[in-house]
Amino acid sequence: MKIPFNKPYLSGKELMYIQDALSRGKLSGDGFYTKQCHRFFTNTYGFKKALLTTSCTDALEMAALLLDIQPGDEVIMPSFTFVSTANAFELRGAVIRFVDSQTDHPGMDVSQIAPLINAKTKAIVVVHYAGVACDMDMVMQLADAHELFVVEDAAQAIDSYYKGRVLGSIGHLGAFSFHETKNIQCGEGGLLVINDTRFMERAEILWEKGTNRSAFFRGEVDKYGWVDIGSSFLPSELNAAYLFAQLECIQDIQDRRKDIWEQYHTALKDWAASLGIAQPTFPDHTTNNAHMYYLICKDIEQRSALLQHLKKHGILAVFHYQSLHKSPYFKAKYSGDALAESDRYSNCLVRLPLFYELDTKAVINALLAYGS
Ligand SMILES: *Cc1c(COP(=O)(O)O)cnc(C)c1O
Repeated sequence: MKIPFNKPYLSGKELMYIQDALSRGKLSGDGFYTKQCHRFFTNTYGFKKALLTTSCTDALEMAALLLDIQPGDEVIMPSFTFVSTANAFELRGAVIRFVDSQTDHPGMDVSQIAPLINAKTKAIVVVHYAGVACDMDMVMQLADAHELFVVEDAAQAIDSYYKGRVLGSIGHLGAFSFHETKNIQCGEGGLLVINDTRFMERAEILWEKGTNRSAFFRGEVDKYGWVDIGSSFLPSELNAAYLFAQLECIQDIQDRRKDIWEQYHTALKDWAASLGIAQPTFPDHTTNNAHMYYLICKDIEQRSALLQHLKKHGILAVFHYQSLHKSPYFKAKYSGDALAESDRYSNCLVRLPLFYELDTKAVINALLAYGS
């Protein structure tokens, strides 16, 4: 492919910081660069507590442990999301209740949450699809009324806001991804944000394999040992050093991505309308962090033809999630309603290449040549 779907951003300082981490002589987790990253997140976004993890998947698994999800507890989430959103809770034996997407946005339709709440419901996991905020006032009101926990799967939502509040800071817990396909990346990486102070101490223990090692190194306890369950959720200093080099450039990265996003949006307006292809829209309550530029085709035939057409021009565009309620793993367990919008986005959504170095011209020209 002449134009890949994604090309990981490099600030140029990654190797320098990794070299510095090597010379500091401590490569396991929770060292100098991990603390630099934590400080960046608490200072820049006002997160109360941030813990780097080896992936967003791990951050979500920590969330499920912190909420003490037990077999049979019910957790509500969208079907149009990544496997890990659901799998983290499935691992604890939760019963997953899926809701549909909105008619005008692939993000979850929060008005469908209330009918699914019952005495067994323990948590709502919202997914800010494409970095576009769910209606968090509505979600938090429901959670308060029914004493439920809210986890924000903010994997795609770095540096995006709901009514001026940064995403990941609104629910009880938030999870971010630094996978190479995300705006800020370190190959594989993630972050757990802890907004509810009740979870702060235990989060550190789960993170450090069920030990109170973090408290020990701060001098708060005189020996450390096995005090709870946990796992090795913390990344090495090599990943943290790499990530820090990206965090320093976050504003430049976001500006560039938004510029590319706007180029697509403007150049494709008339073309999309003439073919019945929908461009992204969003409510007033959210910002756009330009994680993704997607189009919604009329049907799966049009999408296949469009992907094929772009491939002929050496451009890799890709579709996205397939509804989890219809997945090979889950479909036999699913007894809820049909989720027509989630299925429609599974069949009709196309993601265009979007990365820092991209020159949109070739992609736009190839698209404009389709259907004319
Ligand atoms: C990327 C992504 C994840 C998983 O992130 P990893 O860091 O790869 O584990 C989870 N949820 C959503 C919505 C994602 O986009």
